[in-house]
Amino acid sequence: MKMDKVLEKLGIKKINEGGSTGTKWLKSGGKKVESFSPVDGKLIASVTSSTRENYDAIMAQSEAAFKEWSMWPAPKRGEVVRQVGEALRKYKDPLGRLVSYEMGKSLQEGWGEVQEMIDICDLAVGMSRQMYGLTMHSERPRHRMYEQWHPLGIVGIISSFNFPVAVWSWNSMIAFICGDTCIWKPSSKTPISAIACQNIIAEVFKANSVPEGVCCLVSGNREIGDWMSNDHRIPLVSATGSTRMGKIVGATVAGRLGRSLLELGGNNSIIISQHADLDIALLASVFGAVGTAGQRCTTTRRLIIHESIYDAFKKKLVAAYKQLRIGNPLDEKNHVGPLIDTAAVSDYNNALKEIKKCGGKAVVAGGVLTGKGFESGCYVKPCIYEVQNEWQIVQDETFAPILYIMKYSALDEAIAMQNGVPQGLSSSIMTLNMRESETFLSHIGSDCGIANVNIGTSGAEIGGAFGGEKETGGGRESGSDCWKAYMRRQTNTMNWSNQLPLAQGIKFNV
Ligand code: NAD
Repeated sequence: MKMDKVLEKLGIKKINEGGSTGTKWLKSGGKKVESFSPVDGKLIASVTSSTRENYDAIMAQSEAAFKEWSMWPAPKRGEVVRQVGEALRKYKDPLGRLVSYEMGKSLQEGWGEVQEMIDICDLAVGMSRQMYGLTMHSERPRHRMYEQWHPLGIVGIISSFNFPVAVWSWNSMIAFICGDTCIWKPSSKTPISAIACQNIIAEVFKANSVPEGVCCLVSGNREIGDWMSNDHRIPLVSATGSTRMGKIVGATVAGRLGRSLLELGGNNSIIISQHADLDIALLASVFGAVGTAGQRCTTTRRLIIHESIYDAFKKKLVAAYKQLRIGNPLDEKNHVGPLIDTAAVSDYNNALKEIKKCGGKAVVAGGVLTGKGFESGCYVKPCIYEVQNEWQIVQDETFAPILYIMKYSALDEAIAMQNGVPQGLSSSIMTLNMRESETFLSHIGSDCGIANVNIGTSGAEIGGAFGGEKETGGGRESGSDCWKAYMRRQTNTMNWSNQLPLAQGIKFNV
């Protein structure tokens, strides 16, 4: 399908308003943001940024909508989310193509991202009937104690460019069933995909007479993220992006004693033991390192390889990297697409310089690709370097397909290397040895939010809680009991006796 047709199907105009209260777009005199594709450097469309006036109007509408929406029974809200899932199935092909074209990930991954949105809708529908509270036994006679979960209010969602649409749905679909309203600030690098989502949701919300203000969009740069972080009308800010951003947003929200849910950078490693199935290890390492051109939070950045298999595995890696096809991600034959923009290419180049300066040895050398098919200037070679774990460049997350390899001799040493970085998102071990895998999964093993055995670091399923420790921010999204982050807990005690006994046996006679 031609891109013009894709844009037409998704209701994208040449110039789009960036602010919406659900089904209505707000007129804005704000700055025009142009979105260029990293695939071919062409202009996709433009979006007019939301002004402060737009933002306040959207907030007021969302506050009003909360009063009504939070009174809808949760299963009825779930039914709306079910229909959002159906609409996403209908638009999976064009939306996946747009995500691929605007972000630069492969078409398979673009479709995969929309599938993740569909999956989270399905999960949320079931959850809408399962948001259980506990009951407790009171120490006082004829008293009943229980806990219930109430909606929070407006949830602010700040999202990153690398999952332009899925991150929003992980948050919003769960927030909707909880009875919250949402206000979404997408990445200013992928604003068109966000407009497309808003158009899809508007269809469903209109058909179900969902109050205007439940699902809001505010397009623009980080200034809008700053307004949200400072806004006491937003009890929860869920922010996905760099650790640099998370430290600012986290501190600002904490400063007003609001809640934040932070999903930040990773520095993920795979330990490859001498007891590994090396074919599985190879596939997991290469997919983990070069998938989405190294621009996943769960990208494999470090391989920690047992010394006895180090040279043999290195050879396998080199042979596998020779097979990689780099090029237009919409062509399904290609494995690796472009980086998001030329600024990301500069970060990649600076990292290569730094690795060289530290004495890193090239196993597969990096570089920027030029010539036919690479005119956007965003295509780089996936590369591999031998490094030391403690070098600052290895400690930092460079959002590009640079894979670091290192040697170990004992498992404790490998685990210390795996944990010896500031981030704590995803990790894995390749081993068929039960003692090794259990050690890795125990509390003296991986310190990450995600720890896997015999699968790679990337490609998490939405059914589990997703997120990481340390500088990854500590947030958890998606499945398990993550819905609790979008609600407030209330403890209730009911006295059905004809007396007022006090707790802890206290007597108060008047
Ligand atoms: P980024 O931090 O540059 O931007 C993310 C979002 O935050 C954007 O919408 C941006 O406009 C906004 N923002 C930036 N500074 C802000 C500020 N001071 N106040 C408020 N908002 C601000 O990140 P990016 O380049 O878009 O995404 C890549 C990063 O995201 C990587 O570090 C990656 O690991 C991380 N990421 C993490 C997860 C996760 O679940 N842990 C998922 C995806 C991406």
